Amino acid sequence: MPDIKVFDLHCDTIDALAFGDSGPFVGFASTEGDLVCNRLALGIDRMQTVGPWCQCYAIWVPDQLSELTPLQFYRQARDYFHTQMAAHGDDVVQVRDARALDEVLASGKTAAMLTVENGSPVGSDLGVIDEWAADGVKMVTLTWNGKNSIASGHDTTDGLSTFGRQVVRAMEDRRIVVDVSHLNDVGFWDLMKVVRRPFAASHSNLREACGHKRNLTDDQFRAIRDMGGIVGLNYCTGFVRDNAWGADEVSFDDVAAHIERFLDLGGEDTIALGSDFDGCTPPAWLSTCEKLTPFYQRIVVRFGESVAQRLFFENAHDFFVRNETA
Ligand SMILES: [Zn+2]
Repeated sequence: MPDIKVFDLHCDTIDALAFGDSGPFVGFASTEGDLVCNRLALGIDRMQTVGPWCQCYAIWVPDQLSELTPLQFYRQARDYFHTQMAAHGDDVVQVRDARALDEVLASGKTAAMLTVENGSPVGSDLGVIDEWAADGVKMVTLTWNGKNSIASGHDTTDGLSTFGRQVVRAMEDRRIVVDVSHLNDVGFWDLMKVVRRPFAASHSNLREACGHKRNLTDDQFRAIRDMGGIVGLNYCTGFVRDNAWGADEVSFDDVAAHIERFLDLGGEDTIALGSDFDGCTPPAWLSTCEKLTPFYQRIVVRFGESVAQRLFFENAHDFFVRNETA
């Protein structure tokens, strides 16, 4: 059997390693190690046993911070990421332009894309978006669960702010993909009035299959599809099945129900993986990177090889290449 190719749109591994027990992951026992070798869900040494892999590494900026400003928090995590790229250049390469992706993967190295979860570091300064672009940030979720200067997350009720419209424009001008995961419904439809480029929901499922507000409505998914966007399947049990927050409460069929509906909605070219690894509780059978191999095989049996390849790699690859060229 050939290697499985993986392109995963979202994980929170950087925060766990960069901040360890001093940051938002206080109490986690497994924050030792680095991006290559660790006890988390994603370790590059183990990802390489699965096959060629492009991982979007998000810097998750919590809504509540005690000691650092959002921008300081971002910079600290970014410095960690870049230091890791420099230290492990034999194993992993940061991809700043997706057109370089095939070459990186053909060389046997893992590809890493830097992304940001929560646009709060921008504050009231559009100059931060230039900093993101210079750092190689390729995608930014406008919000986390709460409200920031750009928009409101799903725990709050306001829409996209006037300043937020400028942020969207500035991100698009720099080919930084707008990511609507965590955004509330008001903000989503406000965004639809101003967005000009294809955008992403990097780690969101479908609300008709699991009613959590973090998931997309059918109409939202269709809107993303119609613009040529991308949507990442989130493994978080509570976003797969209603009120199922335990690792043993979600079956393969529960996950497959979301894929089935994505396909019913004409999403064959829109779906990707958005694991949320190291930021959520995934099902026990899908808890770490190595388990992508049996997961892929089950997807092939249920949906066929073509859907499996699109879901696991091709759609996200093609989306980010188009993002550089269109
Ligand atoms: Zn998230």
